[in-house]
Amino acid sequence: MAPQFDAVVVGAGFGGMGAGIELDRLGLSNFVILERENDLGGTWHVNHYPGLAVDIASVTYSYSFEPNPYWTRLFAPGAELKKYAEFVAGKYDLRRRMRFGTVVDGARWDEENQHWVVSLGGETLTGHYLLTATGFLSQPYTPPFPGIDSFAGKTIHTTAWEDDFDLNDRKAAIIGTGATAVQLVPEAAKKVRELTVFQRTPIWVVPKIDTAIPAPVQKLFARVPITQKAARLVNTSMLEALMVVGVLHFKQAKPVNKVASVLAKAHLRAQVHDKETREQLTPHYDFGCKRPTFSNQYFKTFNLPNVRLETNSIDHIEADGIVTTDGHKTEIDTLILATGFNLWDVNFPAIEIIGRDGIDLGKFWRDKRFQAYEGVTVPKFPNFICLNSPYSYSGLSYFTTIEAQMKHMGRLLKETFRRGETTFEVTERANAQFLDRVTDKLGSSVFYGGDCATARSYYFNQHGEAALLRPTSTINAHREAVSFPLDDYSYGTSA
Ligand SMILES: Cc1cc2nc3c(=O)[nH]c(=O)nc-3n(C[C@H](O)[C@H](O)[C@H](O)COP(=O)(O)OP(=O)(O)OC[C@H]3O[C@@H](n4cnc5c(N)ncnc54)[C@H](O)[C@@H]3O)c2cc1C
Repeated sequence: MAPQFDAVVVGAGFGGMGAGIELDRLGLSNFVILERENDLGGTWHVNHYPGLAVDIASVTYSYSFEPNPYWTRLFAPGAELKKYAEFVAGKYDLRRRMRFGTVVDGARWDEENQHWVVSLGGETLTGHYLLTATGFLSQPYTPPFPGIDSFAGKTIHTTAWEDDFDLNDRKAAIIGTGATAVQLVPEAAKKVRELTVFQRTPIWVVPKIDTAIPAPVQKLFARVPITQKAARLVNTSMLEALMVVGVLHFKQAKPVNKVASVLAKAHLRAQVHDKETREQLTPHYDFGCKRPTFSNQYFKTFNLPNVRLETNSIDHIEADGIVTTDGHKTEIDTLILATGFNLWDVNFPAIEIIGRDGIDLGKFWRDKRFQAYEGVTVPKFPNFICLNSPYSYSGLSYFTTIEAQMKHMGRLLKETFRRGETTFEVTERANAQFLDRVTDKLGSSVFYGGDCATARSYYFNQHGEAALLRPTSTINAHREAVSFPLDDYSYGTSA
């Protein structure tokens, strides 16, 4: 029985949209993109808290084949990313292929019919290919603080920000000091009467060289696109150097990593007056164990008279405040949860995926190590492209990953068609070799060579493996996406 769709894509963020664009290029235009939210954009639709902006310059954090000359700042605000996603969806005719408000529960490979059966509540859809782009930072997390449900004031998670919620005159707490808090804390401090920031793990913060992009420069980018391409190349090369030398080759180039932490410490010293607060804000793990953050405002905020940093652990929450383990109660009327995302428990994969011989992908990853060939495919899961795989995140800008994966998809599917076949599956041998290679390479990285013990970094999974980032240069990722040995896959024909 022929499936309803050439392909079913799950997730309408930049990853799912990139997959859709590539499917069209391959002539597989009968696809559907399923999205649980009520609109497209993924991260940039869901998040709209005050201060949201990209932390990778916008010339780089965008599709290389669809540059936007009209970013208003070097680091565009979140709302511009949402608009950019809408523009791309319009230009590439993706919106009409999207189904919003659709939660995908799972997908099962139908061996007899050689296609995927995707379940959404009571309904099922069938597709020849399955592509999951459900995101890494897409499953919001709230720690189970005892008593949190008894809190009588306003509780708000940063992924569910209410734009009309007025922070003025509030006695607020922000729990969490990750990348989101670094953006939100300075904005909240401007409005609230009192702000207490609850920190479990300090974060490395480096200066953000941000500026408005004046209209003449935007015009130049629009009229002479090569100028924006050049800016992208310079910025991408700098990020690549930071990642490859400072993080992935930590063992060989420790001094480079040290320079980054010295710079961040100098930034902290220049911005925070109080010595004890400075010490509390200083990380005790190596730079790069966690994704570094950029801000010129975050540290300064702790000098303000209405802002306090709390580093004692939270014991419990009461109706009108937060009690720390030292017995101190901070009275609040607003509880802001900047507590991030659950990557490794409810993600990987975000939905139940059952491959050949009834193999459950989530169980396979947990029992046999997290793994995916080139961060894209898994043995025993035919015709399945997993865009949010272990070892797929390449470089610092996520668009580097998306475009490498688009190239891999293109090469793989073209080869499948060239052979006159309709199914592909990565071989056990190729997958094992890739896993061995990345495991070996990680040995040189800051993750294993450095001190990451106190980082609590989402790069590490529940087994202590740094299984998120691909430990190679992005140049290598892109080169392999267009040159991987074609016999790393087996090919076949549907009945
Ligand atoms: C606040 C924030 C700021 C960030 N800033 C940067 C940055 O500056 N630079 C950078 O490189 N990266 C940044 N990131 C990472 C960012 O997530 C990626 O850059 C990129 O947007 C991921 O795209 P994606 O399509 O893979 O995932 P997402 O954008 O997360 O999209 C996944 C989509 O899948 C949907 N979905 C999930 N499960 C289901 C299901 N079961 N059924 C149906 N739909 C489902 C989700 O609703 C979501 O829309 C940031 C992340 C966050 C949270």
